Amino acid sequence: MSQVFFCKTILRGGENVKKRIGKFLAAAVILTLPLLLFAACGDSDEASSDAADTVIKGKIYTEDANDSVVEAVAVKDGEIVYTGDAAGVEEFTGDDTEVIETGDGAAMPSFVEAHAHGVQGGYEGLYEALLYEGESYDQYLDMMKEFMGNIPEGTPFVKGSGWINGYTPEGGPLATDLDKVTGDIPVVLTSGDHHSYWVNSACLKMAGLDKDSDVEGLKKDSDGNPTGLVQERAMDYIDKAIPDYTVEQYKEAILAYQNEAASYGITAYFEPMVNLNGSENILKAYNELDEEGGLLMNVYGGYQVMPGDDIDAFIKEVTAAKEEAEGGMFNILAVKILTDGVVEGHTAYLLEDYADTPGDRGKPEFDTEYLKELYLKIQKAGIQVHAHCIGDAATQQTVDALEYVAEETGTTDARHAITHLQVVDKADIERMGQLNIIAVTNPYWYLQEPGYYHEVEVPYLGEERASHEYPQKDFFDAGCVVTTGSDYPVTIPPAPLDAIQRGATRCGFDGDKSNLLGEDQIVSVQDMMKTCTYNGAYQNFAEEETGSLEVGKSGDIIVLDQDIAEIDPVQITKTKVLKTMLGGKTIYNAK
Ligand SMILES: [Zn+2]
Repeated sequence: MSQVFFCKTILRGGENVKKRIGKFLAAAVILTLPLLLFAACGDSDEASSDAADTVIKGKIYTEDANDSVVEAVAVKDGEIVYTGDAAGVEEFTGDDTEVIETGDGAAMPSFVEAHAHGVQGGYEGLYEALLYEGESYDQYLDMMKEFMGNIPEGTPFVKGSGWINGYTPEGGPLATDLDKVTGDIPVVLTSGDHHSYWVNSACLKMAGLDKDSDVEGLKKDSDGNPTGLVQERAMDYIDKAIPDYTVEQYKEAILAYQNEAASYGITAYFEPMVNLNGSENILKAYNELDEEGGLLMNVYGGYQVMPGDDIDAFIKEVTAAKEEAEGGMFNILAVKILTDGVVEGHTAYLLEDYADTPGDRGKPEFDTEYLKELYLKIQKAGIQVHAHCIGDAATQQTVDALEYVAEETGTTDARHAITHLQVVDKADIERMGQLNIIAVTNPYWYLQEPGYYHEVEVPYLGEERASHEYPQKDFFDAGCVVTTGSDYPVTIPPAPLDAIQRGATRCGFDGDKSNLLGEDQIVSVQDMMKTCTYNGAYQNFAEEETGSLEVGKSGDIIVLDQDIAEIDPVQITKTKVLKTMLGGKTIYNAK
């Protein structure tokens, strides 16, 4: 099932809901906060050739090896030329230097997002029907009716997502109900957990699925007609029938995400699947934007391998894509691999049985021998492994394979990464540290999420395993490089400041500790800041150029309205990004 790429059910109710529009309005409101004082300083007669383009003064976290905090940083021609005390920066301050005072706020390196499906989040927001806020079957149908009333004439197909099985009639949602509000335009609606499609009759027809189709996962009624619920292999028929978005549409989607990400202080991200569903247009869109100078920030792409792919043919394909992208702001960094599924689908691969289905531990998507050969060839091609592992058996299998690669090649500096890491055996965390495997964590999910933890995770995993899910401090203690990813659009908004707060509190954004998950896994705000800055750069082999504020590095800096390391961690999520700079250029300004 090519659609199953997310690692958990998308939860946008309650805790995680902050509508995008709300965030942007919030940014606009910052106008009223007089925290940024722009002033031209310096001697007007002095035309020093040392004059910087920008000087930031106040409280500045450098995230260098000593976690130094300095009073000033200066940026000239995109590069940091000074960090240190306020007196020392005077010689870099000329007539035309923009001087920013952080006031009660602070400045720090901009954020590196370690795992975000930017293009998908972008096109969902731009073109698709989003049903996440719906709370009943009738409401889904009303929302679709409204959506269909607003689409441009001639729209060839409609996609959407976010409905939940729990709200649909027994046996699943019906094509005939959808037909009443969609008419003849083919419509496919992905469920919130991305494991099912709800389609209308026009879509079934387009995919060639009918009474005579004998396809696994195609739900039929008592007369043998497809109902409109499509799962498993049958989803591939829909994927093949629905046309891909155009290169131009993907470009719009990419830029929509990048503009949003910049407002959260992000200047680089890892995009896990640039060949999603076999699309060639996503890669074209990234490459074209890069060539046109249209990208707002640095993008590190992942290229997905699928079960059954011929290893040599795949390596050839990904190498060609890497070479084509080389240089500029878009590069191919890694091979993305889904080694197992998700807990709520009973598809996470576990070392011990599911609590509710004795004898069932889920199963791996790939066998270990295949992974060993694949990972070895990936590393030899100069590419990283970026593995989705939810269950502890999946992580163990990936660590086994990467241990083999380390032995064969004699190096542990290939910076392979494992993401999600929901249930992990402690012994494997230690091995990840020894093998220098990066832990791409998702701190946004560190709490007993309403409607999910007690309803799905505890019943499926049992109290003991569920209470230890999403370890964090253990990775630090084992010496792993820990990075932070949102898995956007699973998490909305994908704001690293939220992740910093979560990692340092592991409870609700309001400080409610009744849903706290794993108190012993809390880490410091400073540790969390590191995951989103220097460590993120390290994951991308970019730590020599960015990730900390040091002379000679790129001027990738954000200015915040609060000093996040000094305030109560519970307040961090209320912090606003006032300015985001990449290479000294402002790519987001709250003004
Ligand atoms: Zn993902």
